[in-house]
Amino acid sequence: MDFTPEELREYREALRDRICSICRKFGYDEVCGIGEDGECPFDRHLPKLLDAVLTTPRSDQIADYIPKIRELVCSTCPNQNDRGVCKSRDMAYCGLDSFLVLVVQVIEETYDRLRPQTRPADKRAAA
Ligand code: SF4
Repeated sequence: MDFTPEELREYREALRDRICSICRKFGYDEVCGIGEDGECPFDRHLPKLLDAVLTTPRSDQIADYIPKIRELVCSTCPNQNDRGVCKSRDMAYCGLDSFLVLVVQVIEETYDRLRPQTRPADKRAAA
C-alpha cells in the first residue's frame, strides 16, 4: 500500500498518543528497542506494519494478523535472527508485539478516519 507523508504522520501520532504512553508506564521504554540504537519499533517499521495490518482481512482474532506481521515486519527486523527467533518477542520486550491488539485497533481506526470511503469489508460485521 502507498501512504502519503501526511498519512504516515497521522498513523505515527495515533500510535504515539495511544500506545507510547502505555509503553512508558509499563517500562517498555527501558527494554524495547531495535538494533544497537534502541530505535522504537514504530519508527523503524511503520510503513511495513501498516501494510501488514491493513492488507489482513479484518478480524476479531489477533492471530489472524500475526502471519503478515511476521512476514513483512519481523522478517526485516534486526532483532530477529535468520531462524525466525526474536529474543525481544520471547521476553515480551517488544512493545509492538506485546500491545498488538491495541496496535491493530489504532491502525484500523486511523485508516477509517483517513479513508472512510475505502473502508474494507469487515468480517466482524458480517458474522
Ligand atoms: S517482535 Fe521482534 S522481530 Fe518483531 S518487530 Fe518486535 S523486536 Fe522486531
